[in-house]
Amino acid sequence: MDLGIYIHIPFCLRKCPYCDFNSLAVKPFPEEKYVKALLDEIRDRSEEFREHTIETVYLGGGTPSLFSPQTIGAILNETIRNFTVAKEAEITIEANPCSVNHEKLSALHSLGINRLSLGIQSFRDDCLKTLGRIHSAKEAVSAFEKGRETGFENVGIDLISGIPFQTLANWEDDLDKVIALNPEHISAYQLHVEQGTPFYQSMERGELALPPEEIQTEMLETTRKKLTEAGYEHYEISNYARPGYRSRHNQRYWEGKEYLGIGAGAHSFLRKGWGLRQANISDPLLYMERAEKTEFEESLKKEEAIEEAIFLGLRQSEGIDVKRFEERFGLPLDTHFPSLEGLVREEMGRVTLTPRGLLLSNEVFVRLMT
Ligand code: SF4
Repeated sequence: MDLGIYIHIPFCLRKCPYCDFNSLAVKPFPEEKYVKALLDEIRDRSEEFREHTIETVYLGGGTPSLFSPQTIGAILNETIRNFTVAKEAEITIEANPCSVNHEKLSALHSLGINRLSLGIQSFRDDCLKTLGRIHSAKEAVSAFEKGRETGFENVGIDLISGIPFQTLANWEDDLDKVIALNPEHISAYQLHVEQGTPFYQSMERGELALPPEEIQTEMLETTRKKLTEAGYEHYEISNYARPGYRSRHNQRYWEGKEYLGIGAGAHSFLRKGWGLRQANISDPLLYMERAEKTEFEESLKKEEAIEEAIFLGLRQSEGIDVKRFEERFGLPLDTHFPSLEGLVREEMGRVTLTPRGLLLSNEVFVRLMT
């Protein structure tokens, strides 16, 4: 049996106004105390997974690169000591361009971390400023170059489209710049403004507006066109990779494979019954205090597992394997689809989104839920 481990480090230097992740900016951040809680949880949870081989480890956040390489090393060592980690495991760390330098990246690489995921978001200072990011475009490029110099052969870059005031030309410029850097992986997310964020409040007050919908759709079309022409595989709605460089860890989420979440607010999914979801205490300060870290557990009903398999399947370019779906649930797949003509198609035993469905994926998912 295989497993992916996600380790959440929730601290950031400053909270970005659009961010609704479980992250917080506290100074100084309690590195030592938080890591002690992480190590306790790693040891406690490992008992259940004696038979599993760890295929992926993902250090996400927050900003994990704020922690010292010694601390990251202690987390990885405890993971290796308590779990069976495959020799060829994918080990990723997320990094913010202004929290890494040559020395730190070099130390992280020598710990065995073989994948670097850089939260660049934009190569334009005006867009970075709108997003409230603390790094500059120059620092973003420099972080990528340092990643290469220190031996990272698998680097991912995250970008955001649909930023307020961003034009189509601005976005094309970002795409050209990312292609020129030639990372192995590109995540191109559309900005979603979630309730409760400062961005949401600014939008409510009419101070901020996203680019018009037709421009956002053009941005998505341009992304797909430019990145696929540059040789990237569009393998998930927002994710592109050079052949052989898909994010193995994130694929586990989309393929409904098991993963264990360690850290404040981290989620787990285990294949028990129709699926078991668990979530840890999300408040990092409470997470550090309490011995029992899991605060929520839910067994999926069959209907929920079906819904999830459809949603996750449609996110991926490979789509839903009809035979596997029907074997797993004992039901024909088409009974679960409303009329989605032009948006989904079935070919060679797989149901996928059409190019139009990819552009209108939000609409597809809303229609599937009603
Ligand atoms: S750096 Fe990332 S996790 Fe931290 S506040 Fe900004 S968007 Fe959120």
